[in-house]
Amino acid sequence: MIYLKVDDLDNWIRKFDLEVIEYVCPKCNRGFKSSVPFVMKGYVGLETPIHECGPNYRDIVVVPTDPEKIKFWNSVL
Ligand SMILES: [Zn+2]
Repeated sequence: MIYLKVDDLDNWIRKFDLEVIEYVCPKCNRGFKSSVPFVMKGYVGLETPIHECGPNYRDIVVVPTDPEKIKFWNSVL
């Protein structure tokens, strides 16, 4: 997973039709928006910030960008 520095995050979110979600951490009960953009092989996504509770307490949203993966997901959804 590679984190990106995106200058216009709103535009980037629209470009990939990503959904901004709010994750409520079950440990500290605070809400975090998926606001950290990343890419991994064939996918782009947003992650909620890793905070004091550690990397297990987060949520991600991903969408496929690779045509083969898009085809696969369209066949199973
Ligand atoms: Zn927490």
